[in-house]
Amino acid sequence: MALVFYNTLTKKKEVFTSIDSSSVHMYHCGPTVYNYAHIGNLRAYIFADTLRRTVEQSGQHVKQVINITDIGHLTSDADDGDDKMVKALKREGKPMTLAAMREIANFYRDAFVADLRSLRILLPHEMPFASDNITEDIELIERLQKKGFAYATSDGIYFDTKKMKTYGQLAGLDTEDSKQLESRIGEKIEKHSQRDFALWKFASAAKDGEEQIGYTSPWGIGFPGWHIECSAMARRYLGQPFDIHTGGIDHIPVHHTNEIAQSECAYGEPLAHVWMHGGFVNVDGEKISKSLSNDVYLADVIKIARAESYRLWLLMAHYRSPINFTYDALRAADTALTTLYEAFIALPKEEAPADEVYIKSFTDCIHDDLDTPKAIALLFALFKDEQLFPSVKRATILYFDHIFSLGFGMLPDVVVPENVVSLANERTIARANKDFRKADDLRSLIEAEGFTVRDSKDGFQIVPIKLSPKPF
Ligand code: AMP
Ligand code: ZN
Repeated sequence: MALVFYNTLTKKKEVFTSIDSSSVHMYHCGPTVYNYAHIGNLRAYIFADTLRRTVEQSGQHVKQVINITDIGHLTSDADDGDDKMVKALKREGKPMTLAAMREIANFYRDAFVADLRSLRILLPHEMPFASDNITEDIELIERLQKKGFAYATSDGIYFDTKKMKTYGQLAGLDTEDSKQLESRIGEKIEKHSQRDFALWKFASAAKDGEEQIGYTSPWGIGFPGWHIECSAMARRYLGQPFDIHTGGIDHIPVHHTNEIAQSECAYGEPLAHVWMHGGFVNVDGEKISKSLSNDVYLADVIKIARAESYRLWLLMAHYRSPINFTYDALRAADTALTTLYEAFIALPKEEAPADEVYIKSFTDCIHDDLDTPKAIALLFALFKDEQLFPSVKRATILYFDHIFSLGFGMLPDVVVPENVVSLANERTIARANKDFRKADDLRSLIEAEGFTVRDSKDGFQIVPIKLSPKPF
């Protein structure tokens, strides 16, 4: 089956064909490194990873970029408020300098990469810092100025959205919406239109003893807007147009709409062919967000479950569906994963081909706009299937896991010590004699050795209490 993806731009599922047959280029808006990424942010990268793995399994080479936003992302989409990185400098009591900002950026970038690894996400080919691409931002803004798409106000250089006929196509801004915007023009006196956005912001005057934070530009010291950074980095590392651009749905109305506007107006061609957006992780029905203080981090997750269980839990939902996080749901996913891991290690490690019928059904699901809920249901069915040779089952699970990345292939070889086997045998005898007290005591002794016993119709299986794949 051909690869089919839902394209936010056309609002329909489309058969995917790459621009260049030798490689599929994809860009994923990266984290703003002023704090740890929360589990909602991390969903965006599990989605991106699933996409990359799917394209790779279909036989195509992928070049993948996740940027690191370390300047220019203001607290408000309306180009107001502090830069999030400046907020971090204040919070951490660091000096107001670009060097200190980079220190913070490096710290949270490393934490982000560690989270990606814990979630068994393939690292992208490029992870550029926005602050290393200021020249590219300036070039792009100058081009927009030359073409008449930009104007200056007292606080920056702005993009004139009214100059672009198709502005807002991604978000489906209708005429009614545009009229509403018209009526609000004037509220912000210097902006031509409420929708206009900053390409470059002038730095505020330095306070006593502090450095004026910003970069030198033809417009004086300042810093690029968040949207221009992604336009410039995507073009630099992937070319324009490139194949697939992703992010969370919150990016549709402003960030991605504005990336498209700048890149298309500057270069006269689309930025990307396919735009894909992931749904939110909510808590109590509200989007997880640092500003709502309902944020949950991977550090919280791994206190009670494996990181892989969070991944499994996400894969049970479609990437475009919103999903409500609860610790109970996470625990349930963790229990399910334990069952799968234990069943997997009981399968013989013999060379065997993956089952063609399962591969076909799996590919049909995953190629249909990454239908992971159906594919995960198929994984559970595969585990239960008693008709397949165990070695074929094992090979088929490993085939599926190229996409799921739950780490089946990295589960350790379990060697059960002799004394634990003896205890388990004694326990079986105790149970046969209905001496359940003794059986319980023996179970406790087995658990003290780091193992537990699972009884089944065929006898028992001794498994480690903590069964996790080796680190990614
Ligand atoms: P940010 O660091 O805020 O730029 O966000 C990084 C990525 O996480 C972006 O793709 C956002 O769209 C996405 N994102 C932010 N909050 C959530 C959430 N609660 N659920 C899912 N994705 C989110
Ligand atoms: Zn972006």
